[in-house]
Amino acid sequence: MEIKVLKDILGANEQIAGKNRELLEKNKVFCVNIMASPGAGKTSFVLQTIRVLKGNVRIGVIEGDISSSIDAETVAEEGVPVVQINTGGECHLEAVQIQNALNNLPLKDIDLLLIENVGNLVCPAEFNLGEHLKILIASVPEGDDKPFKYPLMFTTVDGLVLNKIDLLPYVKFNADAFTKTVKNINAKAEIFRVSCTTGDGVPEWAKWLKTRMKS
Ligand code: MG
Ligand code: ZN
Repeated sequence: MEIKVLKDILGANEQIAGKNRELLEKNKVFCVNIMASPGAGKTSFVLQTIRVLKGNVRIGVIEGDISSSIDAETVAEEGVPVVQINTGGECHLEAVQIQNALNNLPLKDIDLLLIENVGNLVCPAEFNLGEHLKILIASVPEGDDKPFKYPLMFTTVDGLVLNKIDLLPYVKFNADAFTKTVKNINAKAEIFRVSCTTGDGVPEWAKWLKTRMKS
């Protein structure tokens, strides 16, 4: 019984995600769903991406949080259109929320839409939003065992950003072992080593993203 309910929810979500995708494509908007646990640096990563691509690519942002508009206010300071979604307790974004947000964004003036999902490594992996790419940010202080603990998330994504690499000298984290584990469970995932504090690795990520936008 419970399984059927979950199937219905995901089925309905899938339908709306398809509509979102159509709307995005009609307006030539490339959409990236950024997922991570709380504190991995999603907002800093969004900011860094905006700073590297601004002037080149017209960016819009959807911020997903359980409550508050702190992240949206920070992003808005970059001068890009941003919509905040408050899920009111839900620990992931669903396609219907993105549908509402898309209606409140100037899609004709946006080439790249970044969605910052709610900080959570579990259910965001199950809900398609209509995005073209799914990106996971893992960060050095979280430890290198996360791929074993959250396999669905790690196998779902197209790209993995290992953030806070500036902390590697101070934290017990084996970056090579981590990369190998990720490659073992998800061979297609492109991996980037990034520091949103120093900006290291951000240009490489941005370059890859631009290639994906063109393909
Ligand atoms: Mg954030
Ligand atoms: Zn959830």
